[in-house]
Amino acid sequence: MVDFDAERFNLNIRQADTDDLMDRVTAYRAGMEPQAIALIEAELHRRKVTAAQIAARRESCQSECLFNPDGVAKKCAFCRKPAVRAATGWQKLLGFLPLFPREMCYCTEHAKAHGIGDSALQ
Ligand SMILES: [Zn+2]
Repeated sequence: MVDFDAERFNLNIRQADTDDLMDRVTAYRAGMEPQAIALIEAELHRRKVTAAQIAARRESCQSECLFNPDGVAKKCAFCRKPAVRAATGWQKLLGFLPLFPREMCYCTEHAKAHGIGDSALQ
């Protein structure tokens, strides 16, 4: 990226929580600039997160998360966490008129909150 603003990006990652940064360099890694990945990993190491911990997180994500064809994890429809479950939901007009069915993705927490279990796996 030509206009990569490392200073602003550094400020952003300093303020992000560790769990968020771990998701970025694992689940969402394929969609990121190599420079951004390097900065986040440096920040994680500064927070005493080891390369082995990142690798372990990446491995569990590979087996649990749902991915788009571009290799980036699908995102939960309700938060920034990577999705582990998908189910067909209805895109609604004005919040109540069903328009068309669409895939809804859920992270572990929201899948539980919405009662989406293994049976809903697609
Ligand atoms: Zn969620």
